[in-house]
Amino acid sequence: ANFMRVIVESAGGPPENPTVFNQDPRIGRELLCVVRALLKKIKRRVLVGDKVLVVSVDWTDRKGMIEDVFQRRSEIRDPPVANVDHLLVLFSMEQPRLEPFTLTRFLVEAESSGIPFTLALNKSELVEEETLSMWDERLHSWGYKPLFCSVDNKSGLAALEKLLEGQTTVIAGPSGVGKSSLINTLRSTQHIIDEEEMSNLNERIEGSNWFGDQRVGTVSKRSGRGKHTTRHVSLLPLAAGGYLADTPGFNQPTLMKVTKRTLAETFPEIRQRLSASEPAQCAFNDCLHIGEKGCVVDSDWERYQYYFQLLDEIKIREEFQ
Ligand code: GDP
Ligand code: ZN
Repeated sequence: ANFMRVIVESAGGPPENPTVFNQDPRIGRELLCVVRALLKKIKRRVLVGDKVLVVSVDWTDRKGMIEDVFQRRSEIRDPPVANVDHLLVLFSMEQPRLEPFTLTRFLVEAESSGIPFTLALNKSELVEEETLSMWDERLHSWGYKPLFCSVDNKSGLAALEKLLEGQTTVIAGPSGVGKSSLINTLRSTQHIIDEEEMSNLNERIEGSNWFGDQRVGTVSKRSGRGKHTTRHVSLLPLAAGGYLADTPGFNQPTLMKVTKRTLAETFPEIRQRLSASEPAQCAFNDCLHIGEKGCVVDSDWERYQYYFQLLDEIKIREEFQ
């Protein structure tokens, strides 16, 4: 059979007593759940990342049944995860060297996903301080604020963990930049409930039966045998709350969501120029900002050529569609 691992997040207890509610030691536990047959018939399949209602919880055997799936806030295909609310675009300073056009493609892909993202630059220990500040300034001029880190010497990792707090994050970036290494490093900070703390809390909630046997949780993993072993992804619960997908996301941006009309919106430089002008628009409302009459976007910015190049690429793709 197929099971879903569900991490319990809410007790469904009384809102009048949020302290006890939050301290229920059963929060954070994992339940092995079957999916209600009826649900399978009427809804799309349950995805990792889905928020679900679990009923018939058996705390001894840690089992339950998924009764309902809540509306998804977002859904990404690669890896298949629901409710992703943060992308971490990871590049490295060296090995492989940070390459501005490749980085631009990833940034455009991330911007077009509609999911908030952070740019982190790994292997910072491989370059001089000067190189870091040069890139810092350069990326600021593009409209981004990079976070420098090193999985090797741990610098920047605390700040990075802070950014992941309370969110479901997928890491994307080219091959070799350290995505798997970073995931493995962060994996060691998994949520573990201290046994003593657990028994203390157990005592405190003893006798209170208003929790019932219903819980709301997040599907962290699909388990059990399946013939079609599509890419398996699981969510690692982070100590400070939130989840990290253990499988990296896109490592080759397809830009499939971007059209020649929407490309401009994925460049902060263009957004900034439009909003700084009065009125905040070009003479033609279908302006592509490539020298049209009455265009308010000048070409005096570093990535203008990249914009031009990507626009060409997308135009060609659109012609063949
Ligand atoms: P992925 O393809 O993005 O998942 O990259 P990996 O995690 O497989 O890392 C590729 C290589 O980079 C491995 O040899 C890692 O040990 C190495 N690596 C990862 N992080 C760092 C870092 O901060 N500094 C250095 N020097 N090497 C790193
Ligand atoms: Zn324009």
